[in-house]
Amino acid sequence: MTIAQKLFSHLPATDRLLRDAAFTSLLAEFGHTRVVAAVRTLQNEAREHIRAAGQLPDWCEDWAKKTRAVLQNGQRSALQPVFNLTGTVLHTNLGRALQAEAAIEAVSETMRSAVTLEYSLDDAGRGHRDRALADLLCELTGAEDACIVNNNAAAVLLMLAACARGGEVIVSRGELVEIGGAFRIPDVMLQAGCGLVEVGTTNRTHLKDYRAAAGENTALLMKVHTSNYHIEGFTKAVSEAELVALGTELNLPVVTDLGSGSLVDLSQWGLPPEPMPQQLIADGVSLVSFSGDKLLGGPQAGIIVGKKALIERIQSHPLKRALRADKMTLAALEATLRLYQHPETLAERLPTLRLLTRKAEEIHLQACRLLPAFEQRFSEQFTVRVEDSLSQIGSGSLPVDRLPGAALTFTPKDGRGSSLASLAQTLRELKRPIIGRITDGRLWLDLRCLENEVLLLEVIAL
Ligand SMILES: *Cc1c(COP(=O)(O)O)cnc(C)c1O
Repeated sequence: MTIAQKLFSHLPATDRLLRDAAFTSLLAEFGHTRVVAAVRTLQNEAREHIRAAGQLPDWCEDWAKKTRAVLQNGQRSALQPVFNLTGTVLHTNLGRALQAEAAIEAVSETMRSAVTLEYSLDDAGRGHRDRALADLLCELTGAEDACIVNNNAAAVLLMLAACARGGEVIVSRGELVEIGGAFRIPDVMLQAGCGLVEVGTTNRTHLKDYRAAAGENTALLMKVHTSNYHIEGFTKAVSEAELVALGTELNLPVVTDLGSGSLVDLSQWGLPPEPMPQQLIADGVSLVSFSGDKLLGGPQAGIIVGKKALIERIQSHPLKRALRADKMTLAALEATLRLYQHPETLAERLPTLRLLTRKAEEIHLQACRLLPAFEQRFSEQFTVRVEDSLSQIGSGSLPVDRLPGAALTFTPKDGRGSSLASLAQTLRELKRPIIGRITDGRLWLDLRCLENEVLLLEVIAL
């Protein structure tokens, strides 16, 4: 017998393991099927190890413990809660806006109970699922009607498909945006069945360019908010108000994809101003679309507000049925929008705004409070410091504007970049992973988005 064969014979049989008292609680907790699958995986792993190393793996001393570890690892949620210390408040990869307590409550209530989603209590007839929210959106934006879908990409697709299929849409070359993923304005046009007519140049587009391009096939004049990039220098863009004047003259609707959009004037908190849907509606734009989970601070959703006749066309388009929002989204969105009816308390109750309006000094003090705990754990390998940091709004909002705050930074004492990568890894493996960013030869934990300081300290002390 070779050594390997001899060692193979030491591996316990599945049946024997399952009868072992140590496995009783595992079977109760995870069920027979999964425990057997985990044991088989481990047996294969052990054989591999024997072949490669000529000895049993260390964990063979306690099969129950190793099996539990494997099963628990498999239990990890696909949507694990993490600390977003990247410095980007609306981080697309980390789920964008945190929901307001009111929205969370509204969603759980909606999940537990039947609700009047498409049911009107007055006449027991079938209502329309966006109805209640449409009224609220009209109140907040001054629009005539509204439509809600799964996200703003869907909103843009639907606007174009319902209002311009078979026709041409005129867009400035400076606004042919790629949002990320495969969402590029020219591709969306194609999917919606409209012809894109590009006008102007990358840096300058004039009203006369739109006028010259308009013809009998023109269905829409479109503006796209260049939310994720910024062109500086010798530039010219046509405002919505100017375009509406041309649209009125030519009898063409103007639509705007606003991307983020904010329902309140952010400059009142010293934040950089972002165009507001209500301004564009007041300027006479026929349809404005924006996201629910960017600056609005609600759930993922796409919102279209505008003229009644066009919204009716959108509501009755077959794609609306395919793109409609579910009851949980609508519940969260309604609760979020209601916070805007009370703007005085918005900055307290809407997490996105609360985080964006945190003062640099406050974040700095927080960093100083946390410094000792991080030093205690990491100072052997890293110099841990409190540094000024510039956080971003994220999700394509206001790409150039940065918000001053503070971060804990970790500089490797050995000067090696590989130690930073392994530190980032360690932080990702914590009970609640901490996600930071690596720049300028150090790891940064930007504290703008840290509200639960106690939990962070607990996680660090483990
Ligand atoms: C973000 C964005 C979109 C896409 O919105 P989602 O809600 O992410 O689908 C579309 N257009 C613009 C201009 C955007 O900024």
